[in-house]
Amino acid sequence: MTSLTNTALPSSADAVIVGAGINGLAVAYELAKLGVRNVVVIEKGYVGSGSTGRCGGGIRQQWTTEENVRLARESVELYENLTSELGYQTFFRRGGYLMVTETEEHRAAMREAVALQNRCGVESEFLEPDRCLDIVPDLNIARIKGASFCAGDGTAYPFSVVWGYARAADRRRVKIFSQTRVTGIECDGGRITAVGTDRGRIATPIVVNCAGPWARALAAKVGLDLPNRQERHEIMVSESLKPCLEPMVISLSNGIYFSQSMRGEIVGGIGDPEEPGWEDPARFDTRSQLRFAVRFARALCDLYPAARPLRMMRQWAGMYDVTPDHRPILGGVPGLDGYFQICGFSGHGFMLAPIAGKRMARHIATGEPDDIVTSLSLARFERGDLQTDAFVVG
Ligand SMILES: Cc1cc2nc3c(=O)[nH]c(=O)nc-3n(C[C@H](O)[C@H](O)[C@H](O)COP(=O)(O)OP(=O)(O)OC[C@H]3O[C@@H](n4cnc5c(N)ncnc54)[C@H](O)[C@@H]3O)c2cc1C
Repeated sequence: MTSLTNTALPSSADAVIVGAGINGLAVAYELAKLGVRNVVVIEKGYVGSGSTGRCGGGIRQQWTTEENVRLARESVELYENLTSELGYQTFFRRGGYLMVTETEEHRAAMREAVALQNRCGVESEFLEPDRCLDIVPDLNIARIKGASFCAGDGTAYPFSVVWGYARAADRRRVKIFSQTRVTGIECDGGRITAVGTDRGRIATPIVVNCAGPWARALAAKVGLDLPNRQERHEIMVSESLKPCLEPMVISLSNGIYFSQSMRGEIVGGIGDPEEPGWEDPARFDTRSQLRFAVRFARALCDLYPAARPLRMMRQWAGMYDVTPDHRPILGGVPGLDGYFQICGFSGHGFMLAPIAGKRMARHIATGEPDDIVTSLSLARFERGDLQTDAFVVG
């Protein structure tokens, strides 16, 4: 991949994408595919070094708002063909998602959500607790009040997906510069004119903020105050087991999620809103904590007792980029021509990025409005058009 070497930065580009996570690379690839030439991606670390390379790889269509169900469905359709589209094995696998709950309130919400999902063409089903055992025989259903299952949901391997996008973008002449930091964004008369980096300046009429948890800091460089905040999340991987767990399991009650990778490892995490500094914006702390290991192990062994003999091999942390309604921010900003953003995905940016990148690329390249991009624009916070999905798990 020649453009990932340390060649000199170009002095100009037709579009500069900030961030080589899944969103930055998806939009870069889609822009190039639409015929936009001279697309440059700038990454301060390495490809996938932000949230993407730290995520659980879960991809689900079981949501409670029509917008999320529709977006997730379109994204899954893209994931289905991504390996052949990118010419790179993404390890996308439809193992299904089993969502469980311990409350009557969620049980009722699940029934309603399944009806909505079915109306949107997603083949999910509501399950009584004992039916969960057909899907995960070792599940502890003692406290489960209800569940929903969608066989069409699944997982992919995050690094393979970003490498796949990076290689496919590279073949379309996108230039990806890693270990390069965007230090400033220049505008003149309400238009983007250039991006400053620690390796030189690139004149450009378009900049796309795909900086993940750093999106707010980047937006501040053009005077924008995004409402995003950062949340610390830990995740772990165990030693390998023979294949025993087909779907991703997720609990709406305590937020635990876990699946089995193709190498046999159990991969999973759990949010911890009580953790000191959990949403401290100044604290990009990705160190591992014993607190997580204990909390996760207890919750895992409780819901999935078969995991009791397992040893954890590794744990790590990453940041969610969270907006007040847990929906991403897409699109441009009035009065600042050429500035676009694709950020604020909370814990579901990996699953939505293929469709977000595709829709945003079309919007940027053609200038045509896109209904989802309009609905998810920054202006919604001024309009007060906030709708939170009840199945956001933190
Ligand atoms: C523990 C954990 C588990 C998760 N599990 C899931 C899951 O199962 N399913 C799911 O859908 N989502 C999950 N997510 C969320 C998902 O990872 C993110 O929503 C998604 O990866 C965001 O992708 P991105 O490309 O927008 O951001 P990122 O991957 O963070 O990429 C942004 C990039 O921008 C770069 N950057 C920032 N500032 C600059 C700058 N000034 N100059 C140059 N480069 C810069 C960063 O280095 C980074 O590489 C999880 C997240 C975490 C932390």
